[in-house]
Amino acid sequence: MSEKYDVLVIGAGPAGYVAAIRAAQLGLKTACIDDFVGKDGKPALGGTCLNVGCIPSKALLDSSRQFHNLTHGFEAHGISARDAKIDVGTMVGRKDKIVKQFTGGITQLFKANKVTAIPGFATLKAGRVVSVKDSEGKTSEYAATNVIIATGSVPIELPFAKFDGKHIVDNAGALDFESVPKRLGVIGAGVIGLELGSVWKRLGAEVTILEALPDFLAAADADITKIAAREFKKQGLDIRLGTKLTKAEVGKKGIALTYSDAKGEQTLEVDKLLVAVGRRAATKGLLADDTGVKLDDRGRVEVDEHNWTGVEGLWAIGDCVRGPMLAHKGSEEGIAVAELIAGKAGHVNLDTVPWVIYTEPEIAWVGKTEAQVKEEGIPYRTGSFPFSAIGRAVAMNETAGQVKIIAHAETDRILGVHMVGPLVSELIAEAVVTMEFKGSAEDLARICHAHPTLSEAVHEAALAVDKRAIHKA
Ligand code: FAD
Repeated sequence: MSEKYDVLVIGAGPAGYVAAIRAAQLGLKTACIDDFVGKDGKPALGGTCLNVGCIPSKALLDSSRQFHNLTHGFEAHGISARDAKIDVGTMVGRKDKIVKQFTGGITQLFKANKVTAIPGFATLKAGRVVSVKDSEGKTSEYAATNVIIATGSVPIELPFAKFDGKHIVDNAGALDFESVPKRLGVIGAGVIGLELGSVWKRLGAEVTILEALPDFLAAADADITKIAAREFKKQGLDIRLGTKLTKAEVGKKGIALTYSDAKGEQTLEVDKLLVAVGRRAATKGLLADDTGVKLDDRGRVEVDEHNWTGVEGLWAIGDCVRGPMLAHKGSEEGIAVAELIAGKAGHVNLDTVPWVIYTEPEIAWVGKTEAQVKEEGIPYRTGSFPFSAIGRAVAMNETAGQVKIIAHAETDRILGVHMVGPLVSELIAEAVVTMEFKGSAEDLARICHAHPTLSEAVHEAALAVDKRAIHKA
């Protein structure tokens, strides 16, 4: 048996590495085990988020947005650059540099905070013992007073469209295409499918997204998705709802897809296929039989509201437990658990976790949708305000979208805020703070917002809840 730790974290994604740093800050002897290997073949901290998720996808979204604006968006400003070209190698190289900067940054943070990084695959055994197998097959064992499971998630594979890394790819593959595919098929119109589909569409690919559900982004508010769907259609993203893929055959000329929709069996040929039908908790091979830790029917570690597994000293956080699969949710859980272990108060309010989709326009929300409020029989009022009446949005030539606020009809407490439009990824923070402080629409309506800014749409939507928006005819 090797050293004993106060805290052993399994997984160095945004849930695990944050938990490890906070535990070390609190004076606990901490180590973090992770098995991720970067593109250079070396261990890379940061998990899905930093290596093949949030950060690289945003790097490519930004590059492709610049290119698309240059070729399509700037003419209204009097700027024309019709012959602009994209060098995919440089674009992907920039993304890789950003990834390296951030994964290297976690290594530095671990050193500064005296967190020991242990590379390898971990299996939890009874009695809070963790066995780690390194890349050469050597096994070491570590004991700890507390173990935090933060193993994240992996993409779900379709049995009839298996990932081959070349033609049929997951998120990691779609971040590394060597050139713009002529025809890109995407299975799943969720966050990952829409974001990565947008990247390649902006660079010139013909993108067809097949979605099995009849609704588009079912978790978001219907007023918002209606606007988003209209804008995506204008951009040429071909989203086919209610379609079920049944076959994907890789041939010489491309990938032949067979799918069914309301009209019957259809076919489609694409050059690359991104399968983004969801992710599942990464708990395979994680638990020995006698740990006492339970998995639910979706393979997630079962935890209570404090992320405790019910077994002394064993906790779980991030994508591998219930709740939204979002980096910031996992990080908050990491901090809360580290603080609970150190005898402090730690708590995460899952009701105020913001969601953001970095498409164009961006989509963001926090709290309940109008459909949820209706279904729960809560009396409510809504106020919305379009970006087309906001001076800053008009000056930016980015007027599509709106802010919608749902407030309790009797108490005026804000129940949900839903946005689609320019930079709503940033605007949503104001709504989160207000909801966390149990604020009302009237609170937001009486707060001075700078002019001209996009945040005036939030202010006006709050005024609109009481039917007194100023700039609405
Ligand atoms: P992960 O980040 O998955 O990290 C878990 C780590 O544990 C991994 O390194 C894994 O290799 C390691 N591991 C697993 N099992 C073991 C084991 N047994 N032993 C040792 N190590 C192990 N979320 C957002 O909030 N915003 C976004 O913009 C966003 N964009 C995304 C874009 C894409 C393309 C994808 C795929 C995801 C995106 N997400 C985004 C989701 C986000 O990446 C996840 O919610 C987040 O990474 C979860 O963090 P985590 O720490 O729980 O797990």
